[in-house]
Parts: sequence; structure tokens; C-alpha cells
Amino acid sequence: MSENDKEPNLDHIDEDASGRVARKRLFIGLTCATALFLVACLVLLWVIPYYGLTNIHPWAPALFGAFVGVLILAVGWSFGGLILNILLGRSVLYSGRIRGLTIKLFLPLMTLLGRALGISKKDIRASFINVNNELVLSEAKTYPPEKILLLMPHCLQMSRCDMRLTYDINNCKRCGMCPIKGLLEITEIYGVHLAIATGGTIARRIVVQKRPKLIVAVACERDLAEGIQDTYPLPVFGVLNERPHGPCLDTTVSRESVEAALERFIDPSFQAQIQERKVQAARKPKKPRLKPLDITPDPAPAAEPAQARSEA
Ligand code: SF4
Repeated sequence: MSENDKEPNLDHIDEDASGRVARKRLFIGLTCATALFLVACLVLLWVIPYYGLTNIHPWAPALFGAFVGVLILAVGWSFGGLILNILLGRSVLYSGRIRGLTIKLFLPLMTLLGRALGISKKDIRASFINVNNELVLSEAKTYPPEKILLLMPHCLQMSRCDMRLTYDINNCKRCGMCPIKGLLEITEIYGVHLAIATGGTIARRIVVQKRPKLIVAVACERDLAEGIQDTYPLPVFGVLNERPHGPCLDTTVSRESVEAALERFIDPSFQAQIQERKVQAARKPKKPRLKPLDITPDPAPAAEPAQARSEA
């Protein structure tokens, strides 16, 4: 098997395998609980008016029961299809629309139910992102590089860097003090679009302008979950950012995770060109690193001499 044919290793996109299994279990548990809840609601919907319906027409209860039965089957199909899709890693039971159901219906219901059960929104969203990624992967589609958009959050940029990147990311001076430099190198190698969004409105505008077929988005749990919902039916593969300084400040992302996602989604017919560009990039003489931007903190004011203080 040639180098190009190797399956890209996506394992390191999440922190570790046990974390992924735990998230899957949480999602499946909440999915089953939500399905039972919905079925119970539907049964109640049938039982309650049952005794009153006979007064309208002798067949009314049976017809209404059949209608509710079809709804129960639909719920069973969608939840069953979703769980099989997660477990098998591919679409089953004609469940191509299941990602939409998961996004539009299951996530809001599961969030409500999870909150009632004391599960944090962050955990529910992380598990939803994990499952969304698996559903996007299970569609097994690939795209030309120019149809893929890397959408980054503003907080990846060093907080004290003055360069305005929202309108033109090439304003970055590539000083290497934040992950933007590496991401620009990735776009040159893979030929994908790269944009930075400061919020949902700008993200939507970028999506309208670039018209991608797939988004690889980096953000926190909340922004990723909202972005995935906002842009449906556009497939979004989410990569969680790392927040060593707390939320929204000098965050970072693993370059390997972003590259692994691109390797998976880029049309294999572009692999030869990409490998060639990688070789060229490796051969390129390393430019002396630019002087870092003036972002070091001002020195603390010198202590007042003890003598001066006593004179005062
Ligand atoms: S100039 Fe440096 S600090 Fe500013 S965005 Fe580019 S790499 Fe980051």
C-alpha cells in the first residue's frame, strides 16, 4: 500500500479513546431516554382522547390509534437508525436524513432531558459534536479542496496581536506566536479556504461568500454545537479548540487534528499534488523567524526607594 493510500489516523482528534466511548455512551443513553419519553407522550396522546373519540365516530379511536402507531414507528426508525449509524459507522435503514433529525430535534430534546437529569450542557454538546462527526464521516464523501472551508474562531489569534484578520487573514505577519501561522501553511499545502469568524453572523456571511460543500470548524463546545445547527444541511466536521488560558483567550488547536480531517475529506485525486506541495514546503529554506510582535507586557514600575518614601 502506497503512502497516499493509507487511511488517515483521526484518533487524536479527540483527547483519547476512552473519552470518545464515554461520550458515545452518554449520547446513546440520552437518545434512548428521549425516545422512551416521546413514545410515552404519543401513547398518552392516544389514550386520553380514546374514550372521547367514540362519541365522534365508532372508527375514530382506531384511526387515531393507527396514526399514533405510524408516529411511534417513525420515532423507532429514526432513533434505531441513529444508534445503528453510530455503532456501525455507516448509514443504515435509509437513515440519510438522520443527521438532520439529530440536529433539529434530538439535540434540543436531549439538552432539556440532560439538564433535568443534572448532566452539564458542555458534556451533552461535546457528545453531540462527537456523534455529528461520526455521522459526517459515515457519509464517506470527499470534496475538491476549494470546496472545503476551515472556519476558525477569533480567539485563536494572540490576544495582543493588532493585525486585523477578520476581513483578510493574509494580514497575519506569520510571527509564529499563535496557531494562525501554521493554519496559513496548511491552506497553502492543501488549497482549502481559511477564514476567521468573530461570531455567528460573520460566520454565516463567510459561508454565504465561500459557498463550501464541507466546513471543518474549530471552536468550543457551545459555538461548535450552535454552528452545526445553524449551517445544517451543510456538513460540519467539528474540532474542539484547546483553552489553556480559559475560554475565549489565546486558545489553540492541534495542527495534526486539522490536517487529519483534511486528509480524510479531500478528494483522493488531489493527493499527488498535496504530497508534492508538502515536499516543496519541507525543502523550502526556513526564513529567519520574524521578530515577534511587540506583545510582551510592560515591565512593572520600579519600587520607590525607601529613603524617598520616608522623606515624603
Ligand atoms: S502576526 Fe503572529 S500573533 Fe498575529 S495572527 Fe499572525 S502569527 Fe498570530
